[in-house]
Amino acid sequence: MTEPDYELFALRYATREARRGDHFIGGDPHDGPMPMDYFVWVAKGGGRTFVIDTGFNAEVSARRKRTFLRDPVEGLAALGIDAKEVEDVILTHLHYDHVGNFDRFPKARFHLQERELTYATGRYMRYPRLSHSFEVEDVCGIVRLNYAERVIFYDGDAELAPGITVHAVGGHSAGLQFVRVKTRRGIVVLASDVTHFYENMASRRPFTTAFHIGKMLEGFDRLLQLAPNEDHIIPGHDPLVMQLYPAPSAELEGIAVRLDVAPSGKAPRRAGYAAPHG
Ligand SMILES: [Zn+2]
Repeated sequence: MTEPDYELFALRYATREARRGDHFIGGDPHDGPMPMDYFVWVAKGGGRTFVIDTGFNAEVSARRKRTFLRDPVEGLAALGIDAKEVEDVILTHLHYDHVGNFDRFPKARFHLQERELTYATGRYMRYPRLSHSFEVEDVCGIVRLNYAERVIFYDGDAELAPGITVHAVGGHSAGLQFVRVKTRRGIVVLASDVTHFYENMASRRPFTTAFHIGKMLEGFDRLLQLAPNEDHIIPGHDPLVMQLYPAPSAELEGIAVRLDVAPSGKAPRRAGYAAPHG
């Protein structure tokens, strides 16, 4: 079967002010501002549309003191995608900023690692240190979707369609998966939270929200193994993505970027990375 080339987009829907020390286990010797962006992604090709993660809503944004830029579903509409018609949603994991709005995709089946739902309903959720990354109503909603036969579970790596594969990593959340997409510039790896920022991977310093640090470190290796090179890896929360990639149109400037074209510059990268030590 020939694999189609997918068009691939990142849609930025929220942001927050933060400090460098917030984003690396062990802190950072040069503390300073380091904002974090929030994205959903879309792969279109072969007559199909895959929405990858569904963001959070305005209410959760206000409660968690994020800066809500736009409703992710309205952002998708600006990209020509009607959430009501979407048939496939890949959930990289069930953290609040990746699965909110799931109820606004009434025709979709949801592609998820089984381990993630086990984790999100399991023994460790009695610890706020781990449960604070989840919204319990989202988790209950996914349980209900499963009873409605709308969740497709994976145990490890899987091909969802020609040119679209998911890869289980764990680490940041127990059932985290990343997505590999064939595009006109070759394979692009949507890392989601396997690396929040280019710098987490480049300096091998995992992000502070952690379930298993060893698996987070192995996750960086997996990204590199499954991407042609570092230019083809897209971190889950890095504002640099909006600078390195072009908007699909003038109207979408600052809202969405194309990931199926080469970046216009170099991000911090692993080879030769000089960590900002003083
Ligand atoms: Zn996460």
